[in-house]
Amino acid sequence: MGSSVIGIGKGIVTSSIGALLKACNLRVTAIKIDPYINIDAGTFSPYEHGEVFVLDDGCEVDLDLGNYERFLDIHLSSSNNITTGKIYQLVINRERAGDYLGKTVQIVPHITDAIQQWIEGAARGDDPGQEPEVCLIELGGTTGDIEGMPFIEALRQLQRRVKKENFCCCHVSLIPCIGTSREFKTKPTQSSVSILRSYGLHPDMIVCRSEAAINSGAKDKISMFCDVEQDRVFALPDLKTIYGVPSELQEQGIIRALSECLMLKVCACDRMKRWSSISEIALHANEEVSIALVGKYTALGDCYASVVKALEHSCYEQGSKPKIKYIDSELLIDSAENQAWEDLKTSRCLIVPGGFGTRGVAGKMNAIKWARQNKIPFLGVCLGFQLTVIEYARNVTGIADAHSTEFVPEESCDPVVIEMLEYKDPDKKMGGTMRLGLRETKFVAKDSIVRGLYGNVGKIRERHRHRYEINPDYVNELEKSGLRFVGKNEDETRMEILELHSTVHPYFVAVQYHPEYSSRPFCPSPVYAGLIMAAKS
Ligand code: GLN
Repeated sequence: MGSSVIGIGKGIVTSSIGALLKACNLRVTAIKIDPYINIDAGTFSPYEHGEVFVLDDGCEVDLDLGNYERFLDIHLSSSNNITTGKIYQLVINRERAGDYLGKTVQIVPHITDAIQQWIEGAARGDDPGQEPEVCLIELGGTTGDIEGMPFIEALRQLQRRVKKENFCCCHVSLIPCIGTSREFKTKPTQSSVSILRSYGLHPDMIVCRSEAAINSGAKDKISMFCDVEQDRVFALPDLKTIYGVPSELQEQGIIRALSECLMLKVCACDRMKRWSSISEIALHANEEVSIALVGKYTALGDCYASVVKALEHSCYEQGSKPKIKYIDSELLIDSAENQAWEDLKTSRCLIVPGGFGTRGVAGKMNAIKWARQNKIPFLGVCLGFQLTVIEYARNVTGIADAHSTEFVPEESCDPVVIEMLEYKDPDKKMGGTMRLGLRETKFVAKDSIVRGLYGNVGKIRERHRHRYEINPDYVNELEKSGLRFVGKNEDETRMEILELHSTVHPYFVAVQYHPEYSSRPFCPSPVYAGLIMAAKS
């Protein structure tokens, strides 16, 4: 749980602790608690909490769950994300069903009991015999938030029930360094710990986030006033790469502290080497691959968190580092030379990620056209896939009025991209109504670049999040003009992967699914890896 400020990297600390425990051969899972009232993250704008991440089961969640999956190399589900909305919905449904008949339904004990039951269920997992040995729980928000209170109380009760040796409380706190004396200020941490203690939770360890590593004086103070042993106060300064966080915490003895706290039998943390080698590449790789990322949420890097991670994974695996240029697609609508065009033209490859709404769509299509005509390696994802089809239809196939019904009414265009019938909600409800989660794609062509990248398998399963699709009525015409739909859904009515033949373009690939959601540091997504490979050659 965190102190007075959000966004200090609780998610990365949680994921890194998980990665370390995993490297010690323990079975680990993770739960993120988001104390907002939304049921899930599905209806958030990416500017609200950053990218919306999608799990195998289609649950739309906070981007922290993406970090858990990537760092822990596990698959999570809807039960690994608790929100106030989900808990209240559960309790209210039980109340309506008469489960509490005769009783007044209250935050304590009904909400707090429901939280504990949920946590224990998710911590057990659904693989009998393979139950996780450790479950990490990250409480979003800051200590003292009204929204967080029922969760803190539930965690206090949980600790009381499962006993101290089965519950370790780690406080992540910001230590500002201000004033002309550049002194580390420990007071905010002392205050947040004292609030936490007033709720009955005493931190077993404190991770101190700061710009530069805190000195021993600050450590002493925190240890003394927060009543936490010196060797359980960890200094985590801003690092140049998040991949360095597990090793940093390991070197300071966090594994020993955790195993003492939780009485874990930890032998050697013998799978740590790969973390140090990935952070070594991230820091010191000589070759940089410049990548143009053309989207409309470019003001905040977190909006494309998984895309950026997938690019990192692929670059690192190929011994280089990415140099991502975020380009606002609206600046590419006009063909007049400007910085955006300059950035695009000086990049070695282009990615057009997913998105919603009409703003900047014309600029994205201009970028795609440029990559196609100039044989620049290109990857389109989800909306990027749909726009690739529209661009090709207009400029190669000759369907001048090709468009998507997401942006213009069906009557006034050639609807090359249409809303999927079975996901059309008559009440226009927005939450959880898209085509979401893992779906199968089968390869329908033998000689396919993408199929080769996936190891020449016949079928793949990737995660989706969309409401629109390629109109099957246009597929024949598009294919005749050279656009190859090499991957389709089971009954071959839904287009999933397109590519241009390698004789026409070195790497022109677009996919309806989101391959970035399942990319891992040590197992990069094949289509992202293909993009980087093409960019480097
Ligand atoms: N807006 C498009 C759709 O709903 C694409 C969605 C996306 O890129 N995630 O199909």
